[in-house]
Amino acid sequence: MLTLRDIKKTYYMGDTAIEALRGINIEFRKSEFVSILGPSGCGKTTMLNIVGGLDRYTAGDLTVNGVSTKKFRDGNWDAYRNQSIGFVFQNYNLIPHQTVLANVELAMTLSGVSRAERRRRALDVLERVGLGDQARKKPNQLSGGQMQRVAIARALVNNPEILLADEPTGSLDSENSMQIAEILAEIARDRLVILVTHNSELAQKYSTRIVRLLDGRITHDSNPYDASSEDTARKASAKEDRPKRKPSMSLGTALSLSLNNLMTKKARTLLTSFAGSIGIIGIALILALSSGMQDYIADVQKDTMSSYPLSIEQSTVDMTALLGAARSIRTHKADHPLDKVYSYDVMVDMMGSLLSESSTNDLRAFKEFIEDGGRGIGDYANDIKYGYPTQMNIYRTDTSGGVFRVHPSSLFADMASSSPMGTMRMMRSRSGSDVWEELLDNSELLEFQYDVVAGRIPQDFNEVVILVNKDNEITDFALYSLGLKDPDEVASMMRDVSVGKKISSEQVSFTYQELLDCTFKLVPSTDFYHKTGGQWIDKSNDDAYMAEVIKNAQDIKVVGILRPADGAAETFGPASVGYTSALTAYFVNAVKESQIVREQMDNPDVDVFTGRPFAGSAGSQPAALDPSSLPPDRQAYLASLSPEERAALLASNVPVSKSTYDENMLILGVADLDTPNRINIYPKDFEAKTQIKSIIDDYNKQMNDQGNPEGVIQYTDYLDMMLSSVTGVINAISYVLIAFMAISLVVSSIMIGIITYISVLERTKEIGILRSIGASKRDISRVFNAETLVVGFVAGAIGIGATLLLCIPANAIIARATRIPGVAALPPLSGVMLLAISMALTFIAGLIPSRIAAKKDPVVALRTE
Ligand code: ADP
Ligand code: MG
Repeated sequence: MLTLRDIKKTYYMGDTAIEALRGINIEFRKSEFVSILGPSGCGKTTMLNIVGGLDRYTAGDLTVNGVSTKKFRDGNWDAYRNQSIGFVFQNYNLIPHQTVLANVELAMTLSGVSRAERRRRALDVLERVGLGDQARKKPNQLSGGQMQRVAIARALVNNPEILLADEPTGSLDSENSMQIAEILAEIARDRLVILVTHNSELAQKYSTRIVRLLDGRITHDSNPYDASSEDTARKASAKEDRPKRKPSMSLGTALSLSLNNLMTKKARTLLTSFAGSIGIIGIALILALSSGMQDYIADVQKDTMSSYPLSIEQSTVDMTALLGAARSIRTHKADHPLDKVYSYDVMVDMMGSLLSESSTNDLRAFKEFIEDGGRGIGDYANDIKYGYPTQMNIYRTDTSGGVFRVHPSSLFADMASSSPMGTMRMMRSRSGSDVWEELLDNSELLEFQYDVVAGRIPQDFNEVVILVNKDNEITDFALYSLGLKDPDEVASMMRDVSVGKKISSEQVSFTYQELLDCTFKLVPSTDFYHKTGGQWIDKSNDDAYMAEVIKNAQDIKVVGILRPADGAAETFGPASVGYTSALTAYFVNAVKESQIVREQMDNPDVDVFTGRPFAGSAGSQPAALDPSSLPPDRQAYLASLSPEERAALLASNVPVSKSTYDENMLILGVADLDTPNRINIYPKDFEAKTQIKSIIDDYNKQMNDQGNPEGVIQYTDYLDMMLSSVTGVINAISYVLIAFMAISLVVSSIMIGIITYISVLERTKEIGILRSIGASKRDISRVFNAETLVVGFVAGAIGIGATLLLCIPANAIIARATRIPGVAALPPLSGVMLLAISMALTFIAGLIPSRIAAKKDPVVALRTE
């Protein structure tokens, strides 16, 4: 069944060729016990390795069951070794970190036998060699004879046709040698056993055929065999193809081999993984911190965007440019000697920049642009608010204790402008003493920013809400302004303060219902005027008149109490009542529709307040005065004058109004809803703001291109002045740190590669064993890849675990230093990605060592000690 025809094998060592086999011709029976004898170095092992498919012949042919092996590929040889060959070596060649049972099972895992079947068959053969009770031991817990029997069991477990034993008794005493020889003789009853030995006595006693070898040639064969003469029929029927099914190691087997190996080197594995994890820890920590910071900033932004909108005023001073100008003044360089005192001229620059940076904006056109879609400006904004010059006057409904205006509050106007609140007013571009504030139109954002404590969010134009802080408080400032606390107290407090007396105040409280019961009255400015004798008289200081007006005025109802939601930053300022843009529209229209305004508009030449014509209008022309209505003596006097003198006199005598039409409209607060005097755009986030700015820039460019520089819009970005670089700095720092950490990751990967390479060197023998039982090159690289993957996984897991632990103290420290809770939080996705990166990096690092392992010549590997 097995035929060697003129097999030659030449080894090359540098330039010298060593002819290990010089033409071997021999044929073996299907079942016999052949002993090969010969002096050391005669080529016995070489011949056995060639028969077993571990080594390749240089010339000649080896036929198995009548099939030539000349065209065998690696896979065919692997399958041949796995299915047809069992190897037994002198030095046992067991895998030390695997149990006896696992060693025996290994060949079957390669050939894909089920787990239960493997166990059963392994225990079976172990029983056959008399080791049924030693299955759970590790090889180094056995004696030499026992180990050799394990090796025989392993060789037999796949039920091979051929068992090859290379000096299996070489390291055993005669007692054990006899036992092994007996087992082999027993096995040889139903298969071919080829035994290489030095012990000719043993050979004589047990084998059925003795072959002697000398210098690579057969010198004696005690029982030669020629199939062509003895068994032709058999040969004809034995037309088998070369072994096809490639045995392949499952990932599970590779993993379990690697895991077992790693477990024998726990300390090293842990240290390696720990070293590998440091880079991961670094990157994970940075990611945790920066993403936490970004989240926080994003939140603050979303929040503060409602306090710091992009603000476009009808007439504006570009603060950013002003600051820039101030900076350039500071960085100025003098070019005169220090011999006298020189003037440092800053006034021109200051005034120049003030002039050049201030401008008027055509907000009517811009509002129209926004409402026509504004190139999607609305998609980037949470809300766009329009302000009007019309004053909203709110009074307390109850006038029994006197007329009390709650908005605009005159109570603290002076105080506010002389305090830091005044600065705040400028920054927020709205009155710092305003208790009343227009709510965002965006109900989604409103719900994000506020929790409804009681009542509901306003739906109608005449509905408002009370805004409390996170602790359900309203400033006493607002309470006085709203008349909820007695404003007279303030006057006495101010008096006390001015004379240096200590003042104190007492905390008061209101039930939700008390606040919800509050009602106010909206009085348009135009209702202050009453027409008497053809003139409109301001009666806003006439309490009796005002009480009557207030009685008939539009009701304003408090319908809810809102508190800033958790996570939303509190807004500044005393604002405590929020109203809707519908109310703004309502009072702007109320003023416009009022009788006084209509009279003024119908009669643009006459001042409604005085009934006199405006200067320069048609009514102020001398022709309008009829000289015939004058007394006769005056008429005579006029007649005596020259025409020039007469005209001058007539003009000087006409009683014209000192005001103008436009001034009157301003006094009355007449505004057109289409023409705001302020537009506040509340961007969704920083990116959105950038988009909005670029839309405005495009708009400006278009205006310039159309030859309409008047239409150019100047905006002020207060938040940008304060926060612009924060995100950039965080990003920059993160990138730099991640770059550093990436280097440490690369270093640790290289280290893992080196350690894998050491592992390859250490496990050379194991590689040889695996190859001898049919493992392919791919299987070998798989074992080492599995090992690096395991190390990478452990490193990643340690890294993530350590990061999660480190986040706890990190958060405590940050919370103490900045009062921002829970900044460091590793995003789960980043954690998973880092784990994958760790595994990928160590896998890549292990690729070269595992390729080296796969390429190892099994014969050389087996010879390694
Ligand atoms: P035996 O097993 O009979 O002692 P071997 O088959 O191991 O002899 O070796 C036969 C000859 O081939 C020896 O001279 C040995 O030095 C040589 N040889 C075996 N393997 C190699 C090898 N891998 N490279 C070079 N020479 C080798
Ligand atoms: Mg040998």
